[in-house]
Amino acid sequence: MSLRKALEIRRTLVFRLTFWYAFVFIVSSLAAFAVFYIVIANVVRERTDQEMLRELSETVSILKSKGDDSFRTEMDFEAESEGVGNIFFRLLDPAGGEVAATDMTAWKGVGVDSDVLARVAAGGGPVLKTVAVPGKPYEARIIYGRLESGRIIEIGCSLEHDADFLGAIQDMVMPGILVVVALSTLTGWFMAARALAGIKDVTRTAVDISEGSLEKRVKVQARGEEVKQLVDAFNRMLDRIHELMKGLREVTDDIAHDLRTPITRIRGLAEAELNAGKSGEESNKLAADTVEECDNLLQMINTMLEISEIEAGIRVLSKTDVDLVQLVGEAFELFRPIADEREIRLVFHAPDHLSVRGNMHSLQRIVVNLLENAVKYTPEGGCVTVFLRDDEDAVRIIFRDTGAGISEEDLPLVFNRLYRCDSSRSQPGFGLGLCLASAVACAHGGHIAAESKLGEGSTFTVTLPR
Ligand code: ADP
Repeated sequence: MSLRKALEIRRTLVFRLTFWYAFVFIVSSLAAFAVFYIVIANVVRERTDQEMLRELSETVSILKSKGDDSFRTEMDFEAESEGVGNIFFRLLDPAGGEVAATDMTAWKGVGVDSDVLARVAAGGGPVLKTVAVPGKPYEARIIYGRLESGRIIEIGCSLEHDADFLGAIQDMVMPGILVVVALSTLTGWFMAARALAGIKDVTRTAVDISEGSLEKRVKVQARGEEVKQLVDAFNRMLDRIHELMKGLREVTDDIAHDLRTPITRIRGLAEAELNAGKSGEESNKLAADTVEECDNLLQMINTMLEISEIEAGIRVLSKTDVDLVQLVGEAFELFRPIADEREIRLVFHAPDHLSVRGNMHSLQRIVVNLLENAVKYTPEGGCVTVFLRDDEDAVRIIFRDTGAGISEEDLPLVFNRLYRCDSSRSQPGFGLGLCLASAVACAHGGHIAAESKLGEGSTFTVTLPR
């Protein structure tokens, strides 16, 4: 995955919601585990302390009944039965000097805490303390207690078993945390993706609309109330825009329609004046110019009305099998004289035979308009190539030229009615050719795509279903 794509994903709402959901879930799980661990560790410590207090009281009562001299025999027996590495007993005088002790081989370096000793010797109750055992990975719990004789008894107990038990809990929790991370991320992603699915639909529809299909609507499915409200508002807004656009188009069509009759009449009058031949040379030129301008206006009005009819589906396009190789070939012959005159090379790549079901006259209009544009907007010495492609999914007619090209800002607008790029104002045209071609392609279930780079040329691809 490229860095840019990764950064884009990081900015998505699904990623952010998933991240926060997983983060909160993991932090809560860790906190819950920490509390659980502390409680367990305290219970274990308390249990050990209880056992040590019991051990101390038993030792004190043994020594009380049998005397301090019995210490070695009694305590050695006790230490050996528990394991000399697990427990030791030490008899100390009030100054901390060792009087007797069980086997201390495993407890080397475990000294006597003089502060604690002083407190216990002064008559305080038993004192418990945790100390490190030099050279061992675990600690020990030590208890000091005072005998009736004034001596101090010290009992040390290894905390190895407790450490093992708590370690086992930690080992169990690590994989558990990994499962929690995976589960919370998956759940978070699933929930966020579900919650935002409606917004994705709205975006998809908005993109479709920006590409021209104003009839599309977002399907209202059973989603969260907020998304449903957004979808409803979005669809209502589209209905309104559609209505307004329709109204605007109808007004334009009505004006165009109403203009046709007076223009035809003006043209008739000018033509009659011209045919009468009674006026002077200047008046005749004026009449001829008027006829020409009226012809242009009528052609423009008729094309606009034709586009409206095709878009509205009023004009029914009868369909036959159209031989595209022949159709493009004939259009080439039509433009060859102009191309030769301007030294533009015309190249045609096509299979031996390729036909498509469509309206012959309308398809001719597409080919003629696109070829005319390619020749018109290509400077002398350039090249115009047409490819006929029999693709698996559709038939494609591709018009490629080495001409002026279209800027990035103009490119999405060239299929609009009456749109002409500023750079083409010096060329003849009404800005309706591409709009008509696109309407015809749509009426055949296809579309036209344009790619262009200013100064390098343009490619128009007509896609028609088989
Ligand atoms: P026009 O009658 O002005 O050619 P079109 O609808 O055919 O109207 O084209 C709209 C505009 O798109 C043109 O005015 C021109 O600026 C631009 N255009 C169309 N085809 C090409 C092309 N092959 N090369 C450069 N610009 C083009």
